Amino acid sequence: SEEKSLNFIEEIIEEDLKNGKYKSILTRFPPEPNGYLHIGHAKSICLNFGLGIKYNGKTNLRFDDTNPVTEDTEYVDSIKEDIQWLGFNWANEFYASDYFEQLYGFAVKLIEKGLAYVDDSSSEEIAKQKGTPTQPGVRNEFSNRSVEENLQLFADMRAGKYKDGEKVLRAKIDMSSPNMHMRDPLMYRIKHAHHHRTGDAWCIYPMYDFAHGQSDSIENITHSICTLEFIPHRPLYDWCIEKLEIFPSKQYEFARLNLNYTVMSKRKLLQLVNENHVTGWDDPRMPTISGLRRRGYTPESIREFCDKIGVAKRDNLIEFGLLEFCVREDLNRIAHRRMVVFNPIKVIITNYPEGQTETLHSENNPEDPNSGARAIPFSREILIEADDFMEVAPKKYFRLAPGQMVRLKSAYIIKCDEVVKNDDGSIAAIHCSYIPESKSGSDTSGISVKGTLHWVNAADAVEVEVREYDRLFRVENPASEEGDFKEYINPNSLTVVKGYAEPAIQTATLTDRFQFLRKGYYCLDKDSTADKFIFNRTVTLKDAWAK
Ligand code: ATP
Ligand code: MG
Ligand code: MG
Repeated sequence: SEEKSLNFIEEIIEEDLKNGKYKSILTRFPPEPNGYLHIGHAKSICLNFGLGIKYNGKTNLRFDDTNPVTEDTEYVDSIKEDIQWLGFNWANEFYASDYFEQLYGFAVKLIEKGLAYVDDSSSEEIAKQKGTPTQPGVRNEFSNRSVEENLQLFADMRAGKYKDGEKVLRAKIDMSSPNMHMRDPLMYRIKHAHHHRTGDAWCIYPMYDFAHGQSDSIENITHSICTLEFIPHRPLYDWCIEKLEIFPSKQYEFARLNLNYTVMSKRKLLQLVNENHVTGWDDPRMPTISGLRRRGYTPESIREFCDKIGVAKRDNLIEFGLLEFCVREDLNRIAHRRMVVFNPIKVIITNYPEGQTETLHSENNPEDPNSGARAIPFSREILIEADDFMEVAPKKYFRLAPGQMVRLKSAYIIKCDEVVKNDDGSIAAIHCSYIPESKSGSDTSGISVKGTLHWVNAADAVEVEVREYDRLFRVENPASEEGDFKEYINPNSLTVVKGYAEPAIQTATLTDRFQFLRKGYYCLDKDSTADKFIFNRTVTLKDAWAK
């Protein structure tokens, strides 16, 4: 993408490097470990790590773990796994909780400067006193506390003298600012809760606005990139850095990624998991990175998707179809081809010797000359798709029909001679004859046929379970609909079907990617066992949604 024009953040960085503001850049990806990462986070990861790579800088991974109640090491581990799987390496693994002592010191410094005070008001009172965007707020009597008293009270808060909610630390800024975030915002709250890393060492925890910018500054982050909803927080970000006289990290905002037919907030995704609407965070229908991975998405396809959508300054809703387009393109390049019949009907090749099996070969991937070939057994009885046969066929029907010829992929041309029925009128088998000189690769028959069918040898077909997924929600933007977003779940997002696969399928591993010929792209699911193969459909061959 050499000719691609710079996005607005790249423009800023190039300017900063050119005029010597920075010698090198340092970005960070700052997840809160309160859930698994989703495709929106992938956008932020690709952006932050991508800038680090492009400009020869570095990127930190910083866990924004300042809220003890919702955070967990399970999430920390999954986040690290997902970032690495996406193909990125962090320069440092940091935790905002490692800065608790330093952040406490920053708060003390603000108190000493007369720029913070301990407030005993309830959150309701504080909210009321804040006013409205069109009406200035009012300061209460606590804002007049002396520096000494504030220092003592803040130390007592830390020492555990007070219960949750009894006191907060607020910055003293401007109660009539048009920006509500500047109206003496909360810096610290009391929370007697066990933290996944600091244990019970702390019972006061910094608010996002007091932790984030200062953590950026402690790490000397040059470009702190976040999503648009943080625009109104920026003045506070800058105020804290200015008053504390610490490294001036700068915040830049871009539009968050929204995808249609799904939800993208960890809180909502957690509900889907907890209320068993899906089987877990890595359910293949989830927009999580772990779900997409299990579904068969490749890191390359997700990175390509993030690159394609670019870096916008305005919120929008991206089509899920674009993500599918990206994975289809990648899988077409790398997936090994296999034949799997879903709804079988038996074909008996009457002129093929009984008891004989021959080994044919088929290329693993026509897009990749180095991918080799696999062996495919062929004998007198094979299975084809019921859909590939019509007893009374219209003109221009190029599949199998009485009197008609088709090629069996990588095998022979066969001709349908007779349809054998069961008592109930259903088809028991189709009797065909094959043309021995028509073997693929050495065809001397001179016959040309228009249709090529996938098939499997009946005797050694491997029964597999196939999980076919549809969109998780019935509506484009469930989060914006009236009522509970879960009312809009698609009840038919999972269909389980049976398939009969060629024997080569038995070597499949979890990282293999397959194209089931004429069907779509699939991968082995982790629920598989030694004697039960389960496949997830990653995506159909063509865009089935664009109707
Ligand atoms: P969620 O609402 O899903 O919980 P979050 O922003 O609270 O998201 P964080 O763990 O704080 O989750 O996110 C880590 C980083 O990823 C932040 O810098 C955040 O801005 C970014 N991010 C989160 N969601 C998106 C998204 N949909 N598109 C782009 N970036 C995102
Ligand atoms: Mg966040
Ligand atoms: Mg969140």
